[in-house]
Amino acid sequence: MCQNCATSTPTSGDGVQRRDVLRRAVLGGAAVGVAAAGLPAAAAGAAAPQAAPSAATVASGRAGVSMRWLGVSGWEIAFDGRVLYFDPYVSRFDYRLPGGPLAVDPTAVDRLLASGRLAGPPELIMISHGHWDHLADVPQLLARPDWAAATIRTISTETHRNLLRAMGTSDARLKNNIVATGGEDLEFGGGAYRVQVIRSLHSQSLGYGFFAPGTRVAPPPAPASINDLVEGGTLAYHVTVRDRLKVLLFGGTNFVERELSGLRPDVVALCMTDYSSLHRYLERLLTVLGGPRYVIPVHHDDMVTGYDDPDLAATVDRTAVTRVRDVVRALGLRTEVIEVEHLRPLLF
Ligand SMILES: [Zn+2]
Ligand SMILES: [Zn+2]
Repeated sequence: MCQNCATSTPTSGDGVQRRDVLRRAVLGGAAVGVAAAGLPAAAAGAAAPQAAPSAATVASGRAGVSMRWLGVSGWEIAFDGRVLYFDPYVSRFDYRLPGGPLAVDPTAVDRLLASGRLAGPPELIMISHGHWDHLADVPQLLARPDWAAATIRTISTETHRNLLRAMGTSDARLKNNIVATGGEDLEFGGGAYRVQVIRSLHSQSLGYGFFAPGTRVAPPPAPASINDLVEGGTLAYHVTVRDRLKVLLFGGTNFVERELSGLRPDVVALCMTDYSSLHRYLERLLTVLGGPRYVIPVHHDDMVTGYDDPDLAATVDRTAVTRVRDVVRALGLRTEVIEVEHLRPLLF
């Protein structure tokens, strides 16, 4: 139904040994860093015992920033006791059912919070675009009774704001919605971190189009189907944690090359849905960013398998990592390509 948001490439198992070495090293730092970031100790509990970091070429943990992949393109970013979300989609309902009913699941959030696999409330939610696998859970997160006293800012386009209102987001929450178009350079937490909003693009395939395009200049009727959550513009975000770490987050498999000119992120989360209609997607992205230190392929899981399903890891398209590594090698870059796992914190 949504080829632009679904991963269709089969998995493969090559390069396992090298990946495992890197993964152990990065995650080995993560368990320490989660505590440093002020998260519950249980947040690191999901990780099995890991070998100690073995080389300076992997994430050192010195920046004290934890990044936890929520699946699809979603992230929890934590540092200094602060929590930020990007495209937090955790319901993982079956979008392939007839009519594509929106089946947002508050218990999915409850389970993650109760088991220490999600920290919250966030003080900021960054939204890339309006499709269900990016936006659908934001209203229920904003409406959680136990977070009612917390100030939660959101950044989105006007269309996304109108969709949030249509899904029942309160006026009080919408007061803390920052409407962006790309180009905004925002400071939060008295200079604790900076967020540059970047004009970006949705993926293109199937004749250069994509699922559910469109904008909403006023709140529509309450969305009932994934078809009602239109794209409404796509934004990327560059988050700078003081002089410690710069993270570039994408929610679509495309970008505006000129908008990225001059950015030198340490970590890039890049989407890996179909990019066959794009000219040298990976090559141009890695080059314009100057060969980032770390790249994390995302948006390469099946978007529906639950977090507690033993088959979850198998739904991740492992060829995404090898494809990015092949391009890194061809370009002669020193970029480390990190193989991410659902809900396991990485520490930078
Ligand atoms: Zn998507
Ligand atoms: Zn999309």
